[in-house]
Amino acid sequence: MAGTSFFMVSNVLVLVLVLLLLVLLLVLMMIEQWERNWATLIVMSNPSFSSGFIASFNPSFTSLNWSEKRICIVGGGFGGLYTALNLAKYLEAKGKSKETSVTLISDSERFVYSPFLYELVTGELQDWEVAPVYTDVLKGTGVKFLQGKAQSVDKINKTISVDLASLSGGGKQEVSYDKLILATGGNSKDEKEGEPGVFGFRSLEDAKKLRARLAGLKFANKKPIKIAVVGGGYPGIELSCSLAANMKKNVDITIFQRGDKILPRANLYNRIVATQRLAELGVKKFLRTEVVEIKDDSVSWKQNNGAVAEDKFDIIIRASSSRPSVLNGLDVQEEDGRIHVNDMLKVKEEEDLYAVGDIARCIDSSGSPVPSTAQIAMQQAEVAAWNVVADLTGGVPLTFRRQDLGEMLSLGGYTASLSSKAFGLQLDDKLAHLLRREWNEGAASSC
Ligand SMILES: Cc1cc2nc3c(=O)[nH]c(=O)nc-3n(C[C@H](O)[C@H](O)[C@H](O)COP(=O)(O)OP(=O)(O)OC[C@H]3O[C@@H](n4cnc5c(N)ncnc54)[C@H](O)[C@@H]3O)c2cc1C
Repeated sequence: MAGTSFFMVSNVLVLVLVLLLLVLLLVLMMIEQWERNWATLIVMSNPSFSSGFIASFNPSFTSLNWSEKRICIVGGGFGGLYTALNLAKYLEAKGKSKETSVTLISDSERFVYSPFLYELVTGELQDWEVAPVYTDVLKGTGVKFLQGKAQSVDKINKTISVDLASLSGGGKQEVSYDKLILATGGNSKDEKEGEPGVFGFRSLEDAKKLRARLAGLKFANKKPIKIAVVGGGYPGIELSCSLAANMKKNVDITIFQRGDKILPRANLYNRIVATQRLAELGVKKFLRTEVVEIKDDSVSWKQNNGAVAEDKFDIIIRASSSRPSVLNGLDVQEEDGRIHVNDMLKVKEEEDLYAVGDIARCIDSSGSPVPSTAQIAMQQAEVAAWNVVADLTGGVPLTFRRQDLGEMLSLGGYTASLSSKAFGLQLDDKLAHLLRREWNEGAASSC
């Protein structure tokens, strides 16, 4: 009997011990899960969350010794501005905003919401709707805004030399950084090309200049206004459709495209809809056509048979992509001005430099090269901001993986084309226009 009860007691003890161990294991797993959930929540609480990544953040960094850190961002486009806004959010969430300065340096006073530039030219939207001033956008975030053009970077002393705009006091200023995010995008025209009479189409100034020139020609009763658009990518096609739909018979537009199709990066559905729309609007397009010279008001191009043709135009627009401006001393820009980053958006072989947006040449963690779009720049902005904070605090960095949400094209006259695998959607005409407007207005007002 005594032997049996001894065995019974020891069995109960073993059972209790096993149970205790199980409970301990469960608690440990819950803590681990809580840390993960907490970190994921911070990322997902961002309204522009779109990258679909799982984050893990090291909560122990609050105990690290934190002296004041300076984070600088050069370029206030989709990549730079959204990096600044995300940084403000992540630092606030960690209670580190007071000990960290975030400075956004950009050469113009306003952020430009480029998908609405067409509507600005045709007069459907006003400047303030398309381009809010940075000081308004950044109000209450703690991010400092410095208006000026960054000229060079001294990587040893970690300073950026900035030519300040008169609104920021004018003159030169050296801005110190601990971490620097490069987000200078591209220029509206290739700086090397000169071409004083040619219009670019990227900045607010470009759109306003074009609007003014059109108004002048209309006032002078020029009919039809002859326009050459060099580049058959998204901006060239969308701008041509907007102008043709808006000006009807009073405009004669020719698109010059080097490749064998328009919109080479677009999906097939959007390309077909856009091709039909161009035909409907009477816009001419020359494919496999290399523009060899632009001189004053004339364009020369190489035809398919190799012969060179020339014609005169009232307006010549370069709507092709162009190289980013060069920052002296940086030594990381490649031949075309772009910067190689790894899948954490860190500039290769650099400790303190990141790059996002059009300037970044990036292969994401799935191994595919990422395109130059606002959608990508905003997705990268989340990861870059996270990684900079992680870098400074001993947290775990994220890898960037693009999420293709689809694309929307403005085709003028209240029509658009919309295609998204992610949402299983293909639409054109008026409904697509309404959805595009709604989406973009929502996105523009969230910044
Ligand atoms: C007309 C048009 C329509 C578009 N529509 C769409 C669309 O519908 N959807 C989409 O996903 N993408 C669209 N894009 C593409 C999109 O605008 C770009 O991919 C996006 O702007 C890239 O963001 P970014 O931050 O890299 O560069 P940008 O937006 O070009 O911003 C760079 C900023 O840096 C500033 N800067 C440059 N050099 C310096 C310097 N040395 N010092 C200080 N500041 C500097 C520039 O002035 C600019 O403000 C469109 C582009 C154009 C031109």
